[in-house]
Amino acid sequence: MIRLKSNIGPIGPIGPILLLIIVSLSFPAESSPAYDLVILNGRVIDPESRSDSIRNIGISNGTIKAIATKKLAGRTVIDARGLVVSPGFIDLHQHGQDDENYRFKAMDGVTTALELEVGTGDIDAWYAQRDQKTLINYGVSAGHLAARMAAMREPVTFLPSGAAAHRAATDAEINEMKQRLEDGLKRGAVAVGFGIQYTPNASRWEILEMFRVAASYGASCHVHMRHAGVKEPSSSVQALEEVISAAAITGAPLHVVHIQSTGGPATPKLLQMISEAKSRNIDVTTECYPYIAGMTDIKSAIFDKGWQEVFDIDYKDLQWAATGERLTKETFDRYRKTGGMVAVFSMTEEVVTAAIKSPVTMIASDGILEKGKGHPRTAGTYSRVLGHYVREQGALSLIEALTKMTLMPARRLERRVPSMKNKGRIRIGADADLTIFDPQTIIDRSTFQEPAKYSEGIRFVIVNGVLVVKDGQLQSGVKPGLPIRAPLQ
Ligand SMILES: [Zn+2]
Repeated sequence: MIRLKSNIGPIGPIGPILLLIIVSLSFPAESSPAYDLVILNGRVIDPESRSDSIRNIGISNGTIKAIATKKLAGRTVIDARGLVVSPGFIDLHQHGQDDENYRFKAMDGVTTALELEVGTGDIDAWYAQRDQKTLINYGVSAGHLAARMAAMREPVTFLPSGAAAHRAATDAEINEMKQRLEDGLKRGAVAVGFGIQYTPNASRWEILEMFRVAASYGASCHVHMRHAGVKEPSSSVQALEEVISAAAITGAPLHVVHIQSTGGPATPKLLQMISEAKSRNIDVTTECYPYIAGMTDIKSAIFDKGWQEVFDIDYKDLQWAATGERLTKETFDRYRKTGGMVAVFSMTEEVVTAAIKSPVTMIASDGILEKGKGHPRTAGTYSRVLGHYVREQGALSLIEALTKMTLMPARRLERRVPSMKNKGRIRIGADADLTIFDPQTIIDRSTFQEPAKYSEGIRFVIVNGVLVVKDGQLQSGVKPGLPIRAPLQ
C-alpha cells in the first residue's frame, strides 16, 4: 500500500480504492507468485534450525524460495502429507560414479555423491566426463593413491597392486606426489584422499607431507587408515594416533572413513579418541556405514600375509561378490591372482550400532556397483539407517540420523567448498536438493546376494529443483546434477 500511495497523487481520494480493486483483479485469489515446484503439507525437518513441523515449500530456479504455513501455488505440486521432507542426503564416500550407481543413490535419497577416499589423479578430466550428464550432484578429491601410482610410473588403477602398493617412495617420488596433489587442489579438488592400508610402505613422513599440502589449501584429508583391528602393534588405535597427529602437526582437517570397518571391536575406543581430539580443537570427523561386512579388492595389500590375524577372520568370512560364494584357501588363492571384489565379514552388529549412534559419526556408504554386482551399501545405506536403526531399533532419533546424512557432511566441506553452505539445509536460499520419504515404510532391499535392489519408501527426490524420483519412480531423461568443486586457483 505504501508504494501504491506514492504513485497515486493525481487520482484523488478514491484512487487508492480503485487501485486496490484493479490489483486484486489482476492477481485473483493469489498473493504470491506461482513457483516452479511446490511441496505441500510435508513434515519438514531441517537439522540446522532443528525445526520439525508441517510446512509448504516453494521452489524456483533450483532454489528454495518459500517455506510457509499458507498454501503456495506451483506449476508442479507434490502432496507430501504423511511424508518427511529432508535436505537431500550427501554421501562423502561413493566410489561408483556413473549412471548405474547414480540411479541407485537417487533411489536411496542421495542428491550429492562424492568420491573422496580414493579420489582421482586428473581432476579436470574427471569433472569433464560428468558435465551435464548426471542425475545427482558429484565431486571428487585429489587421491594420494593415484599420485603415488603415477609417481612410481605404474598405470593408475582404482587401487594399486604393484610397486605403489608395496615399496617405500624416494624423496623425489614424494615431491612428485605433493606436486600432483597441489595441481589437483588448484583445479578444484574437493579434498585429499588416502588409502594408507593399500600403501603400507608409505612412510609416516610421506603421509605428513601430503597432509601439509592439504593444509595449505584448507582441504580435508579423507583417510582409510594404515591399520585395522585390535592386534598390537599395528592396531587401528595406533593408526588413528598417526592421522590425528598428522592433523595436529599440519593443521589439515581430518576425516576418518568407515571407522567401524577399520576399527572392528576397537571402534568404541576410536570414537572416544576422536571425541577427545575434537575437545582439544583438532578438526577431526568420521563416518560409518550400516553393515557387518566391508568390501574391497582381493588383490590389494589388505590381503597380504597375516590378514586373518588382523581381522580375526578366516577364508569362510570372505564372500566373492561376483557369485556370492564363500571362499576357501583354494578359491582365495585363485581369485587373488585375477583380482575382484570380495565382501569381508569382520564386524559385529554391536559395533555397527555403536558407530551409527555415536554423535561424532556421519553416514557414508563407501558404495560401488559394477553391472549390478557389489556391496548392498551402495543401494541401501541411507534407507537402512532410517528404516532399521531409527524405526525398528530406535537406536537414534530421526533428526539425529538426518543430521548425519545432510548437515554434518555439508559442514565438513564448506570451508573449502563454500557452495556446500547451501546444501544440507532447508532454508530460503538453499539449493533445492530434497528427499521426501515415508518414515513408516522406508527400508533397504539390497542384500549381499542381491546388491542391486532399489530401496523402498523414498517417494520423491529433487536435485537442483528437478524431480529425479517421482512417486517412488526414477525419472528418465533428466540430468540436473551439478559439480561440487572448490574454487579454481
Ligand atoms: Zn576404504
